[in-house]
Amino acid sequence: EITLSELEKQYGDTTAVEDVSVDIRDGELLCLLGPSGSGKSTTLRMIAGLEEPTSGEITINGEDVTDQSAYERNTSTVFQDWALFPHKSVLENVAFGLKMRDVPKEQRRERAEAMLERVQMGGYGDEDPTNLSGGQKQRVALARSLAVNPDVLLLDEPLSNLDKRLREDMQIELREIHEDVEETFVHVTHDQDEAFTLADRIGIMNEGELIQVGEPTEVYENPANRFIEGFLGDTN
Ligand code: ATP
Ligand code: MG
Repeated sequence: EITLSELEKQYGDTTAVEDVSVDIRDGELLCLLGPSGSGKSTTLRMIAGLEEPTSGEITINGEDVTDQSAYERNTSTVFQDWALFPHKSVLENVAFGLKMRDVPKEQRRERAEAMLERVQMGGYGDEDPTNLSGGQKQRVALARSLAVNPDVLLLDEPLSNLDKRLREDMQIELREIHEDVEETFVHVTHDQDEAFTLADRIGIMNEGELIQVGEPTEVYENPANRFIEGFLGDTN
């Protein structure tokens, strides 16, 4: 379980995140949904330890991690640009985090191969990542992040570089992977269709605040305020 308590982030005069509190449940897929600039990435980066909160507290499984560095926390992040190592094979990419954690070579290989199977990329281990399609790269990035068995997988618009059709396929696949691995996922998107396809619960952000958290049907049927009503009604 991850708890965010009154999290706040200021950049000079800009309040990027303001008073965000939420309990993220074990094994759930929580989507943070909101317009550009609403503080989604900043919130995610604070959970990852890539950004230090101005105030507030983060706990992971009961431990206060607010002052821990990104390296000390057992979180993994998938970003929108795939950032695979181009000079390493697909298998080496997936095994990379395990090497950093001193897992013996034989186990690294086994674990990396198992993760590649899970994302439908079994048999691609020896490939050069530069030869893969966008969707395949993102699957490998997902396998790499999951291989280290993180307490939470953080995804920041992981599908937004893909074309519409592939993005929709990957949404369904991501949902299946989430059900399969039974890990906690926090997934940031500005795309409401994506959030409604993927999420166990949706947290809606606007101007740095987390306005409503609830199951998709709850949020859709009972929007907490006019902003959410308008945002969900706007089908662009
Ligand atoms: P998008 O959908 O465009 O990715 P977002 O919801 O992820 O938006 P954030 O990136 O969290 O939004 O940004 C929230 C606010 O904080 C914005 O006003 C942004 O300009 C500001 N901000 C974010 N990072 C920084 C930074 N490093 N320095 C200064 N301001 C920042
Ligand atoms: Mg963002």
